[in-house]
Amino acid sequence: MDVLVIGGGIGGLTLALTLHASGAARRIRVFEAAPEIKPLGIGINLGAHAMKEMSALGLEDALVATSCQPTDYAFFTRHGQLVYREPWGKAAGHQWPHVSILRPDLHRVLLDAVRARIGADNVVLGHRCTGVEQSGGRVTARFADASGAGLPAQEGDVTIACDGIHSVVRTQFYPGEGPFIYRGINLWRGVSLTKPFLTGASIARIGARHSTVIIYPLRNNYDGQGNTLVNWVAEIERDVAVPVDWNKPGRIEDFLPTYQDWTFDWMDVPALMKRAQQILSYPMVDRDPLPRWSFERVTLLGDAAHPMYPQGGNGGAQAILDAATLARLLKSESDPAAALRAYEAARLPATSKIVVQNRTAPPNLIVDTVERRTGDKPFSRLEDVITKDEMKAIFESYQRTAGYHVQQVSASTSSPGRRAAP
Ligand SMILES: Cc1cc2nc3c(=O)[nH]c(=O)nc-3n(C[C@H](O)[C@H](O)[C@H](O)COP(=O)(O)OP(=O)(O)OC[C@H]3O[C@@H](n4cnc5c(N)ncnc54)[C@H](O)[C@@H]3O)c2cc1C
Repeated sequence: MDVLVIGGGIGGLTLALTLHASGAARRIRVFEAAPEIKPLGIGINLGAHAMKEMSALGLEDALVATSCQPTDYAFFTRHGQLVYREPWGKAAGHQWPHVSILRPDLHRVLLDAVRARIGADNVVLGHRCTGVEQSGGRVTARFADASGAGLPAQEGDVTIACDGIHSVVRTQFYPGEGPFIYRGINLWRGVSLTKPFLTGASIARIGARHSTVIIYPLRNNYDGQGNTLVNWVAEIERDVAVPVDWNKPGRIEDFLPTYQDWTFDWMDVPALMKRAQQILSYPMVDRDPLPRWSFERVTLLGDAAHPMYPQGGNGGAQAILDAATLARLLKSESDPAAALRAYEAARLPATSKIVVQNRTAPPNLIVDTVERRTGDKPFSRLEDVITKDEMKAIFESYQRTAGYHVQQVSASTSSPGRRAAP
């Protein structure tokens, strides 16, 4: 089978690797719009469910070597009061680690593996897909370069659109979808150096719906002087969305005033933000789940299929799970169109639930509930406000929907039919 993969992001590169490892495809080509792959220097979390797949691809050690593996997840109010804390990653009993990693490091590991395994010539840059057509059991993908000039069309047996949140292929099948759905929250993010905080391997989530900051370590001793490189994401309620553009620089004056007095004995949040070399902005947007992703020999994967609010470390991880499922089904089903339908049946309901849960009950529901009950004031006895069981129920409910609860990850089968990674 000759597979055209549109987009060389997390989903497209992982798909190339899972297709290769399963032996499902004779030829795999990845077409990426960008003339060079240069992901932004900010962080991303991959939970144990995604790392299980990375491990099956032989990439766990490379990812661990260049990342941090958090051992606890701690929730605080904006007054700095600890509300809830749980072990995380391997410390929570997972067999696979949770990794917090710089996106360029993740992409480098994926891209190096793809080039080594399917051949560097099969990763084709500077090719923006402009549409797909199908006839006689073949798919033709059309391309243009960065200037808009047409490039030769390419043919394959199936085409998988991994072209991200602005997917051209999705728009071709759903031309009337309209604008993204904005939740009334903008995000600003950056990476900064700081002393190790809390346990030295903690994910910290401070605040609730109106304003939150999430801070996690990416690399210990990054400067050789004991400082940790951390990723931070500020989420603030705002009436107007910033542009849906991954590369959009953010202005510190637009959000710093909110965090001016967020100074705690373990973290000076405004000082951390001021130390960032680069700040990016992004809106909390998603789209309604689709009724269908697969159209004969073309399907959608990753953000092209299920754009979701960036909550709970999910979008990239779900693209990885999509890729593992699709490769397994393309290997086991003799009819490619049936494989794409089976992939949709397996993944569409699961990812739709996450889209909805991210809107209604994201992980910061724990602190939201506390701040609502205290009228946003400091509490004197947490047990008078919320019980440990209630918080645990919220915490675990999110993990179960996202598919990274410890019982689910150990129970799920890693994609069968894999060849050992070289
Ligand atoms: C602030 C923020 C924080 C996040 N944190 C996390 C996290 O901690 N954990 C997590 O799992 N996820 C996280 N996500 C989500 C995650 O980044 C995305 O879900 C993930 O990148 C989706 O992967 P993808 O391959 O589908 O799309 P992308 O990574 O966007 O890749 C799409 C690729 O396709 C290319 N492309 C686009 N159009 C075309 C075309 N027409 N032709 C050819 N190529 C094209 C693009 O250049 C790009 O390389 C976060 C997102 C945001 C905004």
